[in-house]
Parts: sequence; C-alpha cells; structure tokens
Amino acid sequence: MSEQKRVLVTGAAGFLGSHLCDRFIAEGYHVIGMDNLITGDLKNIEHLFKLEHFEFYHHDVSKFVHVPGKLDYILHFASPASPIDYLKIPIQTLKVGSLGTHNLLGLAKAKNARILVASTSEVYGDPMVHPQTEDYFGNVNPVGPRGVYDEAKRFQEAITMAYHTYHGLETRIVRIFNTYGPRMRLNDGRVLPAFIGQALRGEDLTAFGDGSQTRSFCYVSDLVEGIYRLLLSDYAKPVNIGNPDEITINDFAQEILALTGSKNKIIYKPLPENDPKQRRPDITLAKKLLGWEPKIHRAEGLKKTLEYFKTLSKDDLYKSEHRFK
Ligand code: UDP
Repeated sequence: MSEQKRVLVTGAAGFLGSHLCDRFIAEGYHVIGMDNLITGDLKNIEHLFKLEHFEFYHHDVSKFVHVPGKLDYILHFASPASPIDYLKIPIQTLKVGSLGTHNLLGLAKAKNARILVASTSEVYGDPMVHPQTEDYFGNVNPVGPRGVYDEAKRFQEAITMAYHTYHGLETRIVRIFNTYGPRMRLNDGRVLPAFIGQALRGEDLTAFGDGSQTRSFCYVSDLVEGIYRLLLSDYAKPVNIGNPDEITINDFAQEILALTGSKNKIIYKPLPENDPKQRRPDITLAKKLLGWEPKIHRAEGLKKTLEYFKTLSKDDLYKSEHRFK
C-alpha cells in the first residue's frame, strides 16, 4: 500500500471546509483541519475529533502557518463568505484572502504540496457578461462594501498564479458560485438560511430590492465533487464550479414558502450596494476538463437543507445576531 496522503484544510470548521474534511476522510486521507473560529463552528467537525486520521489546529492563517510533517495537498477555504460578514469584519476578510493565501502558498512551497484556493464568482462582481465564463475579467467596485472580499479573492488568484508561474508551484483555483446545504449558519445573512429561518419562525421573507436579481444555487455535495476532481486534475487556471440553474430571488422565496408550507408573504427591503443583478456560471470548462456537472436538483437539495435546519435548537433559530429587522 502506498503511504497515506496528508491534506491541510483551512476554514475546516466552516460550511464548505467541514464538508471537504468529510470527503477527504472518506477517501482515506489524513486530514489536518485549521480554523480561527471567527465564522466557523466546531460543531461542524466534532464528529471527526474521535478519528485517528483527523487533527485540528485553532489558528488564524493570516499569521505564519506551521504544520509539522509532510503535506501532499492544501485546500485554502478560510474566509468569511457572507456579505454581512465582510461588512462586520472587513479587515480580517482582506487579510485572510491576501496574507493568509501568501502564508499558505509559502507553506505549499516549503512542503512541495499542491494547493487549491477557494475563489469565487464575486471576482466577476456585478457581471456585464452572462453567464459568466472564466475568461471574463469582471466588474468589481474596489471601494464598495463587497470590495474587501472581491478584491481579496482577486489578489488571491493573482498571487496564486504568480507562485505557479514563478516558483512552478502546483496550484488550482476554483471559482465557487452560490452554494447551499447542511451546516450553513442559520444567521449568516445569506439568502437561503435567511429565508428558511424566517419561514421556520413564521416571519415574512425579506427580498432585497425588487427581488428580480438572479442567483444559481449549487448543492454542497456537487460542489465538493467538483473541487475534488479539480484538485486531482492538472489544470492551473481558474475553473467555475456551480449549478447553472438560475432563479430570481422572488421565485426562490416562493419556493421556500411552498417547501416550508409557510402562509407568510414576501416583503421588500432596500437592495444592498453593489448587489450583483445576475449570476450564473458557464460550466463548459468544468464539464470538459473534469467530466463534472451538478446532479442534485434544487427541489431535492432544498429538502435536505430544510431537514438539517429543522434539527437545530430553538435557541439557534432565534439567535438575534445578523437578523434583519
Ligand atoms: N437577499 C435577499 N434577502 C435576504 C438575503 C439576501 O433578497 O434576506 C438577496 C441579496 O440581496 C442577493 C441574493 O439574495 O441579491 C443573494 O444574496 P446572498 O447574501 O445569499 O449572496 P450573494 O450571492 O449576494 O453573495
């Protein structure tokens, strides 16, 4: 048998990070999770703590990162990921995407490891090209409220590519579109947990603007599969991973009302500044390169996600943090 592979996952206690830890454990890897727990939650990985092949470091990757032993792969998934989080902790958001990425690229170089960084559809900003292809440069306001995340991720892509071309480091860049599923924070402000939380509390659903803006939602297991395939591919340029099934926020709200059997209605709140009007990934490249496309239809994914949110305590459901009044 060949030696067991070792992978470092940053943001391990977060939504995507924790699902990635599960996947690599299932594939027989030794998984080292790292998180500073600003937006992550140990509950997402507590089931892994009893395993021999999982270890956890409570650490902020914006500071020098030390990991003993060999590393084969690094997956950099540490970052606040919700627009209201960036507003609350803008400097940390900038630091984890820039300094954090730099530290992890340095670690990858020192360990001769392959690194995959979590980029985002936000690099396209409020896109003028629709659907978004990887060769589109984007339309980002650097000094707007979302700029701290968008520009950190754009810098992340630039420095990752520079390590690839200058140092010959093995790098992968995934551009992640809106993703949902179990372990999202109910109060993180993003549209799906916001709507499901409101429906479960018997409140009206808050659509921002006139609700005509679109998003395309990918179920988490599909995303993890795409990331896993990209990591093992030999392609260093950015790849979109997301579900092209596009829907307006109004129609999405209607789906949540129907799914939860809520008798409440949709109410309208001001549209946040620079909120993208439309978003849908062009996944031609991922299909060709990775033989990947999403499998879980929204109806099925939403059902699984609702089941998860229903298992949370009343305390979680009524936590006031990040609720919109
Ligand atoms: N949104 C909404 N109501 C909410 C939360 C979000 O209408 O309670 C809208 C938001 O303005 C955006 C879309 O839903 O147009 C998706 O927002 P989210 O924060 O989930 O992620 P984004 O794709 O904007 O990063």
